[in-house]
Amino acid sequence: MNYISDRIMQMAESETLAMTQAARELKAQGKDVISLSIGEPDFNTPEIVKEAAKKAIDDNFTHYPPVPGYADLREAISLKFKRDNNLDYKPEQIIVSTGAKQSIYQLVMATVNPGDEVIIPTPFWVSYKAIVQVAGGKCVYVQTKIENDFKITPQQLEAAITPKTKLIMFSSPSNPTGMLYTKAELKALADVLAKYEHILVMADEIYEHINFVGKHESIAQFENIKDRVITVNGVAKGFAMTGWRIGFIGAPTAIVKACNKLQGQVTSATCSIAQKATVAAMLINPAESEDIINMRNKFLQRRDLVYSLLQEIPDIKVCLPQGAFYFFPEVSAYYGTSYKDFKINNSTDLSMYLLHEANVATVMGVAFGDDKCIRLSYATSEDLLKEAIRRIKEALAKLQ
Ligand code: GLU
Repeated sequence: MNYISDRIMQMAESETLAMTQAARELKAQGKDVISLSIGEPDFNTPEIVKEAAKKAIDDNFTHYPPVPGYADLREAISLKFKRDNNLDYKPEQIIVSTGAKQSIYQLVMATVNPGDEVIIPTPFWVSYKAIVQVAGGKCVYVQTKIENDFKITPQQLEAAITPKTKLIMFSSPSNPTGMLYTKAELKALADVLAKYEHILVMADEIYEHINFVGKHESIAQFENIKDRVITVNGVAKGFAMTGWRIGFIGAPTAIVKACNKLQGQVTSATCSIAQKATVAAMLINPAESEDIINMRNKFLQRRDLVYSLLQEIPDIKVCLPQGAFYFFPEVSAYYGTSYKDFKINNSTDLSMYLLHEANVATVMGVAFGDDKCIRLSYATSEDLLKEAIRRIKEALAKLQ
């Protein structure tokens, strides 16, 4: 008897989490696995944030919080949007959820009807696709190229728009490519979108603070579309707070209300202690914070290290990421090769080969909509990165 709904039967497992779990299991069996799979900073949460959480417990913030989040937190997020992004989201235009993933899920459930089309520039973050499909929406993938730094052009965007388009979802800095859109590029996309009032825009800015080329740019800054932009962010990546599970959106009030209705039926609200910790995180000015600057500098050193090591590997194509902490090299030159029982015909074969032969966990590009590539997260120490790339190079050299 199969009791599982069609909805869940048809849903793909999150490959980022599945590869991380596979790596954990091999480690538990005593294998020396290096995980470049999950995107998670290997830093500690800032002290001031931890202190705020301890105080919240002592002050008995242990009861149900309001569904959209505590008033002081929504106020602090509103200030953050103004201070860091020059965006005017009022507290009532903000809802706090259990991670940006839940924020995105609620947004899609609240806006996408079955049959609606959602434009997803590809490669994309794994869960966009699964979430749109669960909502009954139709994903419209717009394939970008490594030669174009994996960025969608205004012409490509316009060609993908139909009367059924409801939403476009993208991240900048991008997971999985690490590339980011410049202000001029965002403006060109906004100018196209401005012509189509029926389209909402979801800008996932969770990697905002891990940007190596300058100021972060938000698509919500453009007057001609700002009333249709939902800006997603959170504390996981920028503040090394993945486990606290706090994400949020700034959005038109009607959308926040709809997400609030759904959240009230699903989680009631997110964790009260994590919310109080996040107030402290939001009050940190990232432009002046040593914690954030040091973390970014460390990621930059690692990016440069990994870039130079990857370039020593024959037959892979790499572009230099400008933010986040991922590389998304094209490895398809190795397809059609084999070693022992391993036959490499796609990104899944290659990722599994690297996991078992080199004991390095990566994520197959197909999970992000591009089967020519694999994703490497460099959110780990330089020693482990050197060893991991050495092993990858050695394993690839065995393929004939
Ligand atoms: N967003 C991170 C990643 O892509 C965390 C894992 C996940 O939720 O997918 O690795």
